[in-house]
Amino acid sequence: MSDAALRRLRQLDDVKVGQLRHVGEKRTAALGTIGIESVFDLLTVYPRRYIDRTKRVDLSDLSIGEEAAVFGEVRKISSRRTKQGKVMVEATVSDDGESLKVVFFNQAWREKQMPPGVQALFFGKVTDYKGQRQMTNPVVDVIVGASGIERDASRVGRVVPIYPSSGKAGLTSWEIGGFIEESLRRAGPLLDPVPSAALAQFSLIDRTASLWGIHLPQELSDVAPARRRLAFDELLRLQLLLALRRRKLEMTAAGISHPIGEHDLDVAPGALRDPESSLVRQFLGGHRFALTQAQRRVLHEIANDMSSALPMHRLLQGDVGSGKTVVALTSLLAAIDGGRQGALMAPTEVLAEQHVASIRRDLEGLTKKDEAVLGGVRPLSIQLLSGKLRVKERQFIIDGLLDGSIDLVIGTHALLTYDVRFKALGAVVIDEQHRFGVEQRATLRDKGRERSLEQADPDLLVMTATPIPRTAAMVLFGDLDRSVLDEMPGGRLPIKTQWANTELDVAGCWQHVREEVAAGRRAYVICPLVEGSEKIEATSAVEERNRLALEELRGLSVGLLHGQMKSQEKEQIMHEFRTGEIQVLVATVVIEVGVDVPEASVIVIEDAWRFGLAQLHQLRGRVGRSGDQSYCYLLGEPSTEDGLKRIEALVNSNDGFALAEIDLDIRGEGTILGSRQRGRSDLQLASLKNDEDLLLAAQEVAKLMVSANGLDGEPEMVDELRLFVEPEEADFLFKS
Ligand code: ADP
Ligand code: MG
Repeated sequence: MSDAALRRLRQLDDVKVGQLRHVGEKRTAALGTIGIESVFDLLTVYPRRYIDRTKRVDLSDLSIGEEAAVFGEVRKISSRRTKQGKVMVEATVSDDGESLKVVFFNQAWREKQMPPGVQALFFGKVTDYKGQRQMTNPVVDVIVGASGIERDASRVGRVVPIYPSSGKAGLTSWEIGGFIEESLRRAGPLLDPVPSAALAQFSLIDRTASLWGIHLPQELSDVAPARRRLAFDELLRLQLLLALRRRKLEMTAAGISHPIGEHDLDVAPGALRDPESSLVRQFLGGHRFALTQAQRRVLHEIANDMSSALPMHRLLQGDVGSGKTVVALTSLLAAIDGGRQGALMAPTEVLAEQHVASIRRDLEGLTKKDEAVLGGVRPLSIQLLSGKLRVKERQFIIDGLLDGSIDLVIGTHALLTYDVRFKALGAVVIDEQHRFGVEQRATLRDKGRERSLEQADPDLLVMTATPIPRTAAMVLFGDLDRSVLDEMPGGRLPIKTQWANTELDVAGCWQHVREEVAAGRRAYVICPLVEGSEKIEATSAVEERNRLALEELRGLSVGLLHGQMKSQEKEQIMHEFRTGEIQVLVATVVIEVGVDVPEASVIVIEDAWRFGLAQLHQLRGRVGRSGDQSYCYLLGEPSTEDGLKRIEALVNSNDGFALAEIDLDIRGEGTILGSRQRGRSDLQLASLKNDEDLLLAAQEVAKLMVSANGLDGEPEMVDELRLFVEPEEADFLFKS
């Protein structure tokens, strides 16, 4: 058959479900409620699992106490009340003459759900009740309804796909399977937009075979290669879109060559400060400590990007405490060296304020030429722009950014407001990038083009301590280059983490806090997370602080920090904690990201199991920031299994990347992409954890397919990708 006769996915999307044989108005509406409108939508609803009806499970082989999946037809069903007044539904399920009793408590609706004749899959533990095998409250997948078209074609004797049946839509797995089977038969062979050489290279089966294999396998062994190919397609589409996006950015870029090179980086701390040198060189030469090998390597990568005329788009990943701030500051200074400005955006006010304070200290004494001032030089001007400034203060910053008298602005989301404009924005750093959306990243970057007199693309560095596994990073940040700080500053001891789960342990924990404080160090106490209300959380933090100050920590200077406080108060408290006036800081998660007080050596996290694993690791990273041994205590009795797993993981590992992998295991896939990918671009079959080889293959094939002219040579692929992106974006990406 010639290619022209083969169907494309997009044509399948034009065929609405109403055109299928057994789909009338009612079923069209039902399918609509679960987001299925076209034949294409249907084909991408994948079976959750399969039952192999080519081999029958013998009911009499089921052993007591075992979890089992049993397929059978409901023969009898009835309900009655028990002596305790509970509704009990009893069903007899049989398969080829053998039977099993299935019992449900407090699920009266089951009687309606499974009238005699319904065939279903029952999952549960097999127990023994008065000598008879029985399942109590199993999970049920209704596969074949009691009447109607579904019974026409029995698939007994085949591999039966089980689709996520939807109670809401009132559709059984069997019905959905029927629609899909019809769709596949009517669609005929499908066009495969992936070059056959690529398929051969990575042992991938062709598209038509993959859809048949996943929906209508002849044998269970057909499923794996089908899944592999379909997962590959999901990853390939993402990689293609990322490659196109990247290409567009590069094509339309008006970047800046910043004056930074080897010479500026090649300097030992303590070098004599030469006022004629670049700011970068003066800064690194005058710094408190020598850079780690990793910091050096990353700075070279950044210097390469920044000195080139293409704008930098770089992700800097580094575990908590690995020293990202120095790297950020160096790149901002490179922009200032070129006579431009830098902007640093942080997710919270506490963090922005801390950056201003520490950066002002680090840059003290540095000057820059300015003909407008007496003497021709002035100190660098570093300013804070937060949402809580008074009108006049804010105006001062706005004016200074536009006339160029401010060199470096550090702020929160407030930087994104429309009236913030620059004279010449040269570099942008976004700290703790996971707290911001992709759009916010773009908004700040676009300030260079649209809200800056120079109208150039600033160099962009986004930083994150979230240890995203490599595969996930390739998907989430595939349009960014990546640098990794994989080394902790020297002399750091691993933090000792302990779960204090007995009264004795807890008492020991508070005793230890007192000892650390007595030795001149400081402590954090993190209050329990209260979902949904910052206000209630604040109130309970106040109470906890007061309680501790009277009881376990009596006699110590105990401060309080929470999200409802005014910025000035917060600033004051952090200042007192830094100087040691406050010895123990009771706080909500406002301190989660970035807070840096090296003297803090112990952190106590109350009800630790309520926090996410990444968050716990971030919180723990508030200590262990000097050469002293630091400690982390986790309090609380987990009331979920996942909570317990998180605590165990944290106790057993200090490695952010290992924890991220575990987190992925606990949470399952999908959440990692979060709201970032919408609708269809979601990875349904591909697993970021297990399909790393496929991801690499997809990346390679994408590189092959995208040429200097984009996807011009691949009209079929372009046609397909249009299914996955908004029309405006498609126009932008596919226009050559
Ligand atoms: P993060 O990557 O978590 O943002 P920071 O930049 O806050 O880490 O650095 C953590 C701490 O380590 C800070 O106190 C910082 O001054 C210190 N630090 C950073 N780099 C070095 C280094 N090369 N040698 C010693 N201490 C360092
Ligand atoms: Mg930081």
